Formats: sequence, structure tokens, C-alpha cells
Amino acid sequence: MGDLTREIERLCDEKGLRMTEQRRVIARVIAESDDHPDVEELHRRASAIDRRISISTVYRTVRLLEEAGIIERHDFKDGRSRYEEAGEDHHDHLIDLQSGEIVEFVNEEIERLQERIARELGYRLVDHRLELYAVPLDAKDVPVKK
Ligand SMILES: [Zn+2]
Repeated sequence: MGDLTREIERLCDEKGLRMTEQRRVIARVIAESDDHPDVEELHRRASAIDRRISISTVYRTVRLLEEAGIIERHDFKDGRSRYEEAGEDHHDHLIDLQSGEIVEFVNEEIERLQERIARELGYRLVDHRLELYAVPLDAKDVPVKK
């Protein structure tokens, strides 16, 4: 059993929620994902394990986990919320507008720069999000952003 599954069980306990078998499956699916699935994709993966899991159960579970700060929601401007386990090593995202691929990266220079900007504005940085929207260098036409 992974850390995330355990974490979810603890959370459910705390909130007086039963750690149902279905929640356990959904937690496992998220813990095992190393991409950024949306609810539909999570439902596809979860129902491959237990086909009784409905999309609304996935929605509810995901919301619960997000509220508890166990998973993180991303909006990469394609109209769907995507999820990943929170508290992994910090990283930022580059979104390939052509393929939809999401590339994770860490750049120490950017990290330092952001801290400096906050400090110069009189703040201590506690968190940030950075999303780069990009097309491959050899792309012919650039998709128009809505
Ligand atoms: Zn990520």
C-alpha cells in the first residue's frame, strides 16, 4: 500500500468518512499515475479495476482529496481539471499545445528569481505555480490560445 493510500485512509478517518473499497481504488489509481489525468481518465483507469465505480464517485473523491490538500488540481487551459499527487518534489509544467503533452521541469534559476521578486515586493514566497505554453521549435503553425 502506497503513502497516498495511507494518507487518504487517515483523512477519511479524520473526517469520519468510511474508506470504501472504491475510494481505495481511486486513491491507488492516482498514486500510480505519473501523468496528469483528468476525472474522465481517472474514471477509465479506476473502472478498469472495479467497473462499479461511477464517474460521480470519482468526482466526489477527487474533490475530497483536493480539499484535504492530498492531491493538486491543475488547469492547463484546455477546459479540464487535471490532478496529481501533491507534495511530490516541486516542479513546474510546460504544456505542448500541439500534442497536449505535459512536461515537468525544475529550474533553480527560476526558483531563485521568483523568491527574489517576492522579496523585492516585500514578501516571503510560500508557493508558486508556473505554466509554460509552448509549441515544438519546428512547429509550422501556432495554435491560437483562447
Ligand atoms: Zn506535474
